[in-house]
Amino acid sequence: MKTPSLFHLGADKLIALPQTLLSVILTLTIVAPLCAESEKSSKEMIRVLLIDGQNNHDWKACSPTMINILEATERFKIERATVLKEEVANFSPSWTNYDAVLTNYNGLPWTEETKSTFEAYIKGGGNLVVVHAADNSFPDWKEYNRMIGLGGWGGRNEKDGPYVYWKNGAFLRDDSPGKGGAHGKPLEYKVVVRDTDHPITKGLPLEFLQAKEELYDRLRGPAENMEILATALATGGSERHEPVLMTITYGKGRIFHTVMGHDAKSMRGVAFQETLIRGTEWAATGEVTFPPVTSEDLPVDRAASRHPDEIKPPE
Ligand code: ZN
Repeated sequence: MKTPSLFHLGADKLIALPQTLLSVILTLTIVAPLCAESEKSSKEMIRVLLIDGQNNHDWKACSPTMINILEATERFKIERATVLKEEVANFSPSWTNYDAVLTNYNGLPWTEETKSTFEAYIKGGGNLVVVHAADNSFPDWKEYNRMIGLGGWGGRNEKDGPYVYWKNGAFLRDDSPGKGGAHGKPLEYKVVVRDTDHPITKGLPLEFLQAKEELYDRLRGPAENMEILATALATGGSERHEPVLMTITYGKGRIFHTVMGHDAKSMRGVAFQETLIRGTEWAATGEVTFPPVTSEDLPVDRAASRHPDEIKPPE
């Protein structure tokens, strides 16, 4: 075989050359499409910061469950900030790196600096998802309570705002005195959609059953710029039709607040999962691209449950 005149190489290099070429070809054929793919998905992925680390609920089990639920859709990329008590003083995230913040945090107040940067982030068009006991947090942080609309416990009462519930075909703001935040015994509860036009609830069954868990009632708060998308009758509790899914506007920020999600088991409820997915996408982008789940998967005569691994990305 004739040695190519271009390369004045020794015999060992001649052997090495084809391997080098092979590796270049492999790199081009395998790595290049992967790069293109990851560039494509990183554009479409919604970046979410999940905050936990303190809660009167089992955040160690609940947070991974929510991460699994959201990431199973292949639409969200979740980063997790676990803020233990001793880490609160140093908690200072770069909020603007995220399309939305999901709070599963019910703990010590953040520093004044962090509260202030968070307020600026939401006001400026950052977005927030509030799950279950996260609405117990920060009773004395006025701006946080404006973001969540309604909250419970922590000394909340009539000084914090009205009770809000559905009565005789309309939402009632009830200023009567009393403590904010209660629940009856855990139950499977029927969620009733009250706003069928909102992207989060549009196309969903009008009624569906959530897995057994405690249902918050008698929450109180400023309830400004708040829309209640769905309610549930707090049987054995307030006996009122209590807000279950809410949206709030704070400055340019969108907030989705769900009272569902007491524990990892009830987070297997399809009702919790579908509304979390839709609500998080809406908070982050202002729209919902997920096709609405039908009454076959989200029925009213049984509390449908599934492992997050069974969640499939939309086709
Ligand atoms: Zn709970």
